[in-house]
Amino acid sequence: MSNPQGYAEFYRRSVEDRDAFWTEQAGLVDWHKPFDRVCNEDSPPFARWFEGGLTNLCHNAVDRHLKDRADQNALIYVSTETDIERIYSFRELHAEVQRMAAVLKGQGVKKGDRVLIYMPMIPEATFAMLACARIGAIHSVVFGGFASHSLANRIDDASPVAIVSADAGSRGGKVVEYKPLLDEAIRLSTHKPGSVVLVDRGLAPMNLVPGRDHDYAALREQHLDAQIPCEWMASTDISYTIYTSGTTGKPKGVQRDTGGYLVALAASMKHIFMGAPGETYFSTSDIGWVVGHSYIVYGPLIAGMATILYEGLPIRPDGGVWWRLVEKYKVTVMFSAPTAVRVLKKQDPAYLQQYDLSSLKALFLAGEPLDEPTARWISDGLGVPIIDNYWQTESGWPILTIANGVEKKPSKFGSPGVPMYGYRVKLLHEATGEELTGADEKGVVVIEGPTPPGFMQTVWKDDARFVNTYWKSIPGKLVYSTFDWGIRDKDGYFYILGRTDDVINVAGHRLGTREIEESISSHANVAEVAVVGVADQLKGQVAMAFVVAKDSSALGDDASKLRLEGEIMKRVDEQLGAVARPARVRFVSVLPKTRSGKLLRRAIQAVCEGRDPGDLTTMDDPAALQQIRDLLA
Ligand code: ATP
Ligand code: MG
Repeated sequence: MSNPQGYAEFYRRSVEDRDAFWTEQAGLVDWHKPFDRVCNEDSPPFARWFEGGLTNLCHNAVDRHLKDRADQNALIYVSTETDIERIYSFRELHAEVQRMAAVLKGQGVKKGDRVLIYMPMIPEATFAMLACARIGAIHSVVFGGFASHSLANRIDDASPVAIVSADAGSRGGKVVEYKPLLDEAIRLSTHKPGSVVLVDRGLAPMNLVPGRDHDYAALREQHLDAQIPCEWMASTDISYTIYTSGTTGKPKGVQRDTGGYLVALAASMKHIFMGAPGETYFSTSDIGWVVGHSYIVYGPLIAGMATILYEGLPIRPDGGVWWRLVEKYKVTVMFSAPTAVRVLKKQDPAYLQQYDLSSLKALFLAGEPLDEPTARWISDGLGVPIIDNYWQTESGWPILTIANGVEKKPSKFGSPGVPMYGYRVKLLHEATGEELTGADEKGVVVIEGPTPPGFMQTVWKDDARFVNTYWKSIPGKLVYSTFDWGIRDKDGYFYILGRTDDVINVAGHRLGTREIEESISSHANVAEVAVVGVADQLKGQVAMAFVVAKDSSALGDDASKLRLEGEIMKRVDEQLGAVARPARVRFVSVLPKTRSGKLLRRAIQAVCEGRDPGDLTTMDDPAALQQIRDLLA
């Protein structure tokens, strides 16, 4: 390993000898022109990385590898929805990206223009992202299948010159027609894009609007030999915008730079994910989320790895489908989310033992708190380290985890780990802003500026919102708030207790919903749980728990429900004390989540308190919230 002094020294250098540290990391990638200044922090809280430098994300993800690995796998596309499996080498990816780039240019897209990508998980989605990066257009990927209303908002916010979309997506074997959703969104939006390029998968009929809509296949035919050079971008030029998941409210448009992001990803592939050129990376996320941007498309390709683009569910045709891919493509690094593992947990564990998983070095999980039973279950099943990592759309790459590529360190169940290099993570008292340095003190997790490379530059078109939302929430201090609540143990490991607005105050006791959920999920018959605080005249707030049982056949009648409710309450009493005991434990078949699989606690809470649940545009299954309404009625 290149860091004989271990992680502590590596981290220390990243913050105390910052410019030298990041200059070394910047050496992991190609620059067309070297930068003159590592970090410009003249107007805090804005941080500008690698000023003066010129580079290109697509060059680093694709062209750079042609010399050594042109014929190696770059993009492995697997759809269990359409039963298509197709591999693109770096050479083929290079050709396809140039074709897409030529098509976009033909539609009038220029450097700095926005291109909105509303696509299912198909190779053309990746081509479109890389093509934008190539020609210096700013992509804004909107999760495929979002409703027209949500899409219309994003069209107005991004004001794209062109939209790249498809006839349809497919989910669990059911075709979801995108084109009618898109047409309706454009009807609703104030901004009207000049051009819509559509990939026809043959899943649903499409009516092309003359003069506006174009068939991608026909345009591509005209550019088979396209040679579109990379546009050299200033390091601080915008590469893309992406919206947060909308778990706590209206999604925020996160704006990302070029050079800082490039360096951050290259460094993380080495120090955190331990990926090496020629290996295969499998992230089960969606290109519509930040994990998809950083670790399906850009990160692995920048590192010279093949990346798997998977369209489908984790349990279709059966619970072994992901592990079959790990075996077949000798996946070395895998990235998923706790919510997906909980889905698998309901399946026969035999699926984990059927395949040769010996290539796998580690499974990374992010997006939500990883409860101990879920972590143990998957860790025992796979026999590889499970590495929790905590971050946000805003950060672009992990804030807390274990950098095993620098120094192998044990993970602790329940903790995503320690601050990553470049991040000055602190715990502050929410009301006084005082720094908490003692072990196990609870506070708001904040980051002191300047934020590291890769971190959001600002809120798209709204610097004031960036400053006011993120940097002004702690009295008297200009620090970035994650709006998550955490503690740090005596060894420096952090534990995320939930979002700051998920804290319950029961008769003066402050409890994290996460702590109560942890306790409840340790019950053998609990598959999933959501705990929310509900206003109560007597106690201020009480906890309410909604549980998805693993074996719901045991809940046939009211008596058995009451029995399980009693068992769960007893468990919370024993583990956390009676103050944390939920007032009720109710059973549902599914919990309300965002499309990215995050629990929508604020919506549950609103329903419990008889309030309007607010912006639900990112909600996955409206029936889930209805179940809760029905239970309370
Ligand atoms: P919005 O900001 O729009 O309300 P969101 O916060 O869910 O939505 P994301 O950026 O997708 O949008 O999610 C980041 C949040 O997810 C973190 O702030 C944290 O609450 C949670 N999170 C992510 N990873 C972890 C993890 N490993 N452990 C605990 N919580 C996590
Ligand atoms: Mg957030």
